[in-house]
Amino acid sequence: MKDGYLDFANSPMGAKLVNALGLPKPLPLERYKPGQPVVQGTVLIGGSADSQILEALATVMKSIGAQTLAHERVPQWIATANKVGLTTGRWGTQGQAGEKVKALVFDATGLSDSTQSDALYWFFHDTARSVLPSGRVVIIGRPPEECSSPRKATVQRSLEGLSRSLGKELKKGATAQLVYVSEGAEANLESTLRFLLSARSTYVSAQVVRVGKPVSDVVAPADWAKPLAGKKVLVTGASRGIGAAIAEVMARDGADVIALDVPQAQEGLNEVAKKLGGKAIALDIGAADAPQKLVDAARADGGWDVIVHNAGITRDKTIANMKEHLWQLVVNVNLSTQERINDALVESGALKAGGRIVCVSSISGLAGNMGQTNYAVSKAGVVGMVQFNAPIYAQKGITINAVAPGFIETAMTAAIPFAIREAGRRMNSMSQGGQPVDVAEAIGWFASPASSGLTGNTIRVCGQSLIGA
Ligand code: NAD
Repeated sequence: MKDGYLDFANSPMGAKLVNALGLPKPLPLERYKPGQPVVQGTVLIGGSADSQILEALATVMKSIGAQTLAHERVPQWIATANKVGLTTGRWGTQGQAGEKVKALVFDATGLSDSTQSDALYWFFHDTARSVLPSGRVVIIGRPPEECSSPRKATVQRSLEGLSRSLGKELKKGATAQLVYVSEGAEANLESTLRFLLSARSTYVSAQVVRVGKPVSDVVAPADWAKPLAGKKVLVTGASRGIGAAIAEVMARDGADVIALDVPQAQEGLNEVAKKLGGKAIALDIGAADAPQKLVDAARADGGWDVIVHNAGITRDKTIANMKEHLWQLVVNVNLSTQERINDALVESGALKAGGRIVCVSSISGLAGNMGQTNYAVSKAGVVGMVQFNAPIYAQKGITINAVAPGFIETAMTAAIPFAIREAGRRMNSMSQGGQPVDVAEAIGWFASPASSGLTGNTIRVCGQSLIGA
């Protein structure tokens, strides 16, 4: 559905009115177009002394062809950054005259005590005003639970407060994220930095990503524009909405798509499959024999590489008014079925070793929602399914992650009454809803063969929604 207010707020007359009344001013967000560079502008990098990831960072910056500048505040950091050839120039503490940058990257891995946190202050104090619209901020730290001392764990944990506050301060479509990288997993950062620094992550903000040791070999794609080349990807609920966008992004990224939806949606499903040169499977995933049917279909296809559990339903009622079958139906389709399908595909080997499972949760599952106890149970359950199966599937080299969309412009959200819809749309750091493609891009990041270091994550695609923040 079209967001008329966004167009109005960016028209000459609308902009004046919006400013005068102090109303939210959403800017059109930049979205990825094939062929464009990862970062459309300069990356300004800073760090604390004792950094532990500079070589890995230098490798990624070279690989993405970024133009990099070093923030010159911390002399020890600069010395090491220069040694590894991380940066090609310096950015003075007074700011380069008028120079704006597209991304800020702060390497906080060296922080081991809260008394050192002024390194964060100085970097962001000096640079926050220099970030371009749709700019990106990425802070890189160590997972607190893996730190050797409570002091180090505490200062690393404090980074969450910084990234979430920056997400709210930056405005103009800029985002801020925190990446915790485990010791020894530095070489797995590339797919995550490519996603978070690019226009692909336009509606993802204030998220905490954990990059760990890879569950299988990290395979850098021969062509980063087609990371899924040769991969067979099943997308459920693919006849429309977010599922159709996921199928499209997977195909754009090189995958052979198998689009699945209920038999009643056959027409739309066939259209999607035909457009993408993929296959269609008309199947109700809630049926008892669905897992076996999928195992058979995958085997007949030589095995699948990626499963995207997007199909989902709502049957809203307050719990006092809800009939039991509506509870059962929603929990079955959105959760129990997916558990059964995963077990069947993983145990049978129909999902190949090195495979990927990507699930779709919801901010309702994280924050709860009036009239959605059944849905929130199912979507919070998805977060649990991801968290608790991650170590088990890792033994087979399979990753499992989830995205939790916020307000996404689809038929589902177009049906929400006007006042509630407007609140959902504006109550986030972007002051607008996301597009189905924004969810699809996040799924593409998890699905990539280069994302073997990512498992057990649930990442919100919600523009830093205030709901459940
Ligand atoms: P949608 O209703 O437009 O699409 C869902 C698709 O799943 C439909 O094509 C439907 O036919 C299919 N489906 C439902 N039950 C099925 C079954 N038993 N077997 C096979 N296919 C089945 O919804 P959407 O807005 O595109 O949502 C997609 C996913 O994103 C859902 O899991 C939803 O819960 C989640 N989500 C959406 C939003 C949003 O703002 N739209 C927000 C948070 C989460």
